[in-house]
Amino acid sequence: MKTDLSHRVLAVLSLCMLLSFATSAQQEGTKNAKPDPDNPASITGKSAPSAYKWANKKTKLDKDGDGIPDALETTPINFGGVLVTLDPEKKDVILVVDFVGTDNANLPTVESLAILLASFNSAPVKGLKGKTGIALHLVSIGSGYPLPSNSSIGTIANDEYDWSQLDTIKQNTIAANNLGSIPHIYHYCLSCNNYGGSGSSGISRNGISTYSQFRSGAVDSICSLQGYQSSVQAAGMTAGTIMHEFGHNLGLTHGGYDHVNYKPNYISIMNYHFQFDGITVNGAHSYDYSRVLLKPLDERKIKEKAGLGSKAKGLGTQFSYQGYQNPFILTGDLTKNVDWNFDGIIEKQAYPWNLNYPFDVDLTWLVSEKNWDNINFTGGGNIGGAVANSNVSDLVNQNYEGRFTKVPDNLKCRELTDADKLAIETSQRKFSVEEILGPGVKMKITKSGNLTLYTLEQ
Ligand SMILES: [Zn+2]
Repeated sequence: MKTDLSHRVLAVLSLCMLLSFATSAQQEGTKNAKPDPDNPASITGKSAPSAYKWANKKTKLDKDGDGIPDALETTPINFGGVLVTLDPEKKDVILVVDFVGTDNANLPTVESLAILLASFNSAPVKGLKGKTGIALHLVSIGSGYPLPSNSSIGTIANDEYDWSQLDTIKQNTIAANNLGSIPHIYHYCLSCNNYGGSGSSGISRNGISTYSQFRSGAVDSICSLQGYQSSVQAAGMTAGTIMHEFGHNLGLTHGGYDHVNYKPNYISIMNYHFQFDGITVNGAHSYDYSRVLLKPLDERKIKEKAGLGSKAKGLGTQFSYQGYQNPFILTGDLTKNVDWNFDGIIEKQAYPWNLNYPFDVDLTWLVSEKNWDNINFTGGGNIGGAVANSNVSDLVNQNYEGRFTKVPDNLKCRELTDADKLAIETSQRKFSVEEILGPGVKMKITKSGNLTLYTLEQ
């Protein structure tokens, strides 16, 4: 495992400070209470995460369980001139990517779109008849909404984001591209400089009044990367952010099991540690939702010998200490013997240690999730909401979510800081579509008028 002497010395110096947290730590949750993600104190490692299954179910009218009625998947759907071919035996998701600006500063690069296609294509998700993966259909709008590309979209007042400007832009795009008669079976992402004057990299339109409501998903999201979307150098960050916000649309959260962020045992781009740079698998960057459920960590009793468990094979992770600017990056074998306090030895005794700073300084259970098993394809009930009666006209005329979304600081998506920008600008990382897709996988590009459909050749 990589360590660094200055980190070790500083870590030892901070040990006393961190030990003092133990006394003020939250009390362990009531043993017999049902764990409730809305109530962090109720969560213990003994509560089986499998008790929470947020994925929508396959139904008679939606046999592949992608939220889109089978009846709509048998003939191609005309998206303003481009034909989107769906498969009733494989999960399909459609994402319309729109952008703001009279130049192309906010137009996501084809490299960033390739990363998204590849990630969904290799998803460990089952359809029917042995088909696996998710077919992502990206419909890219070719000219931006006519506002300066550095415009801020919408407003935040009293911690609530007002989506009405996004609605205006979306409706304009729908009208301009003859998308009005298409059933509501697609998600929408607006790529812009920033929203509500904030430095946040994005937001999704999930309801947040309860954890359960959040997990049912949403259909609208924003990717706001201050113009870095058009930079090939930032293709990973752009893909990671679109996929992070899209992940919220699919019901995923910053903590998996709850909204608790920065867990070192939650290896997912939904965790802020990994949104921009991706997770690492056998040393390589990958933009992915979590594929494994790592065992819970009890911050009151960290056991270095236990590591992250056998399912962490090949995975890297990150964690932060209070008072340190940069996260600590762990590579190598993390399945056991993880030197969490960087003192150079593997302690035999358990000790208290906060591992998810800066989300909190409390000592709690950190419970994780296998994201791909918990995808909800219904977009908060806005996609396929009429599957039960298979009435296509109902799918065209549904109500969307409310106009406002609460954006408390702990749920506002990751800030794009000056340090992030510097990291991108000085990065040597290059992306090419061929490299991203790998041998034998080809992108299929179909254009009509202002629209381009990106998908993978099947
Ligand atoms: Zn987020």
